[in-house]
Amino acid sequence: MQPSWKALIQEIVAQLPAEFSLRDLLKHEADLARFYPANKHIAAKIRQTLQILRDQGMIAFHGDGRYTKRNVAPRYSPIIDFSGGENLTSRAQIARQVLETWAELNLFCFACDADALTRLTANTPVADFACAKCAARYQLKGKNGRFGGTIPGAAYKPLVDAIRAGACPHYVLVEYDERYSTVVFGTAIAGPHITEDRVIARKPLAESARRAGWIGCSVVIEGLPSVALVEPTSLDPGKVRADWQTIL
Ligand SMILES: [Zn+2]
Repeated sequence: MQPSWKALIQEIVAQLPAEFSLRDLLKHEADLARFYPANKHIAAKIRQTLQILRDQGMIAFHGDGRYTKRNVAPRYSPIIDFSGGENLTSRAQIARQVLETWAELNLFCFACDADALTRLTANTPVADFACAKCAARYQLKGKNGRFGGTIPGAAYKPLVDAIRAGACPHYVLVEYDERYSTVVFGTAIAGPHITEDRVIARKPLAESARRAGWIGCSVVIEGLPSVALVEPTSLDPGKVRADWQTIL
């Protein structure tokens, strides 16, 4: 599986001394090109990935292409960037793309200590992301607002086949608010908990539809245990009181 840019750059950074330079990373351009032979902008991708690592607090910039590693856990951001989807026409497509980008930058593996997941190609059945380290697979579901007890699934048969094979991916539910460009709640459900009786087939698409005869599904998630990834939180009262004094 193709590792994500973030995972590749992190691996290189891990081998560098606490202080390093952009040049140290650019030396690995040829190694990186082996993973992404079609990419003609490896250096730009290195810079972009370093910015992400900086935004997540893992490295600090000091100007002139000099960096230091910060020995802290990555900080993930709930902010969704809706500016990336201008070249797409449907709202659903835009939402899908920006959410996948958010997930690629912010999701980590729950099953092992990998800090990033790899986006799978668009035609991969059932799953959207996978962990390059432990091979855990994840399906991303997003909604502007809150999900109810039943969520829309994709194709019926591949999901049932995956469940029967004991390979149902974990579900990551992202409930966002487009007005604030932010994820409000993120929850994860374990794949093995999604049993076949929870998958409800929909009516086949009509003959007039582009994908006539295609059968989608709904997945009943009501009552399943979940863990929280993102949730609204309030600030420490001590900090609020201290800040209050500064504005008086
Ligand atoms: Zn993993």
